[in-house]
Amino acid sequence: MQAKRIQGMEDLFGSAMHEWQSMKTLAHNLFSTYGFTEIETPALEQVDTFVHGIGQSSDVVRKEMFRVFSGGLLERVFEQGNETGLKAKQRMALRPEGTAGVVRSVVENTLVYPGSSPVKLWYAQPMFRGERPQKGRLRQFHQIGVEFIGTSDARSDAEVILMALEFFLKLGFKKSDLVLRINSMGDTTCRPAYRDKVRSFVLEHKDEMCADCLERAEINPLRTFDCKNAHCKEVMSEAPLVSDNLCEDCSEHYKQVKSYLDAMQVSYVEDPTLVRGLDYYTRTVFEIECPNAGVGALGGGGRYDGLVELCGGKPTPAVGFALGYERIMLAMNALGIEQHDTDDKLIYLACVDASLEPVVFELAQSLREQSLCVEYDYQGRSLKSQFKQADKLQARTCVVVGPDELERGEVLVRDMQTHEQMCVKLENLGQALLGD
Ligand code: AMP
Repeated sequence: MQAKRIQGMEDLFGSAMHEWQSMKTLAHNLFSTYGFTEIETPALEQVDTFVHGIGQSSDVVRKEMFRVFSGGLLERVFEQGNETGLKAKQRMALRPEGTAGVVRSVVENTLVYPGSSPVKLWYAQPMFRGERPQKGRLRQFHQIGVEFIGTSDARSDAEVILMALEFFLKLGFKKSDLVLRINSMGDTTCRPAYRDKVRSFVLEHKDEMCADCLERAEINPLRTFDCKNAHCKEVMSEAPLVSDNLCEDCSEHYKQVKSYLDAMQVSYVEDPTLVRGLDYYTRTVFEIECPNAGVGALGGGGRYDGLVELCGGKPTPAVGFALGYERIMLAMNALGIEQHDTDDKLIYLACVDASLEPVVFELAQSLREQSLCVEYDYQGRSLKSQFKQADKLQARTCVVVGPDELERGEVLVRDMQTHEQMCVKLENLGQALLGD
């Protein structure tokens, strides 16, 4: 039987791996200009970390978390018919998103405390959700995200939004390719009353709404704005809007965020029906879409002022975002945007005669010691085929090792773009290639 990968979980290799690596490099370079440093958290966390963080009522926690049991524990759960006897640390799940784990780590390692400067972290990690796989919706996907923890200053909301937009522009998107939607979801002062209003509205229209919406009305009424059903959408267009129900502080905060975005001439669409799927959001929420790509939101985020406290820390405001690598790639392909940096550092060593293979082997080692990327043929191909392979690998330079040149202590160095070539003394080769 041939082993098969799980549907919705993809192997990353070749050009996809290269694209993922360059996206991470871009994230590192860009986010560090804003003072962010990288964090990696475990792929497995206690279920409670997600339940507290993401919220019991979110789809991610209710339906999409991959639960993990060691073999022994699984037997116990089967025998008992439930997992009530398990300790919290035995109830584990693969992370469906990044924020809950990062916040857990920030609390556990006391990376921020009252009176300290905010902590700014970014990550690039695979996430796991038990969804029905389809285009742009995988069970294992990659997110690049940031968490700015320790301030409610509206400049931090504006900065993460600007950083996300800049990330897309640096990838090659044009401003006109992107739509930024923003909203404020209120906070613990104003949201409960608003949530009740929406619940009452849905229940008043229960004969016109789908079963899912009626369920949502009970557990997380704001999610009814997300229903894809055309009729529910029509009904919800009359529902009370959060923008009319913000308390003074939230309204002022939202105004400030917009004024900072205006100061940077950022265009945005205010969408009072934008509610993000995870329960932890407060105040600012945003999504970035690429309407012509047809793959849904490329990323989104917002403020989550209550989460650190929910995870056992002191009350600490925070804001962040997550961008989906696979969706971004789909959008770039749909728009014909190419990632610029091909692997133009590669040196290809071509061997004129099989008897010189040991020379090629040693030369490769000595160039690699000088930090050059070197590739050569292992299959006894003809010189012509070796040149073809060098082209295919997009080598920058081809070094031809031939008997006549070797006798003079030289090799032929060929620039693969200009096709210029010259003989170089072996002892100067590393320097000549590094200087290119
Ligand atoms: P979320 O954590 O749901 O707010 O998602 C943030 C971003 O991650 C989305 O805008 C997508 O780009 C990406 N994303 C979320 N879920 C998936 C998925 N199942 N497959 C691929 N990408 C996803």
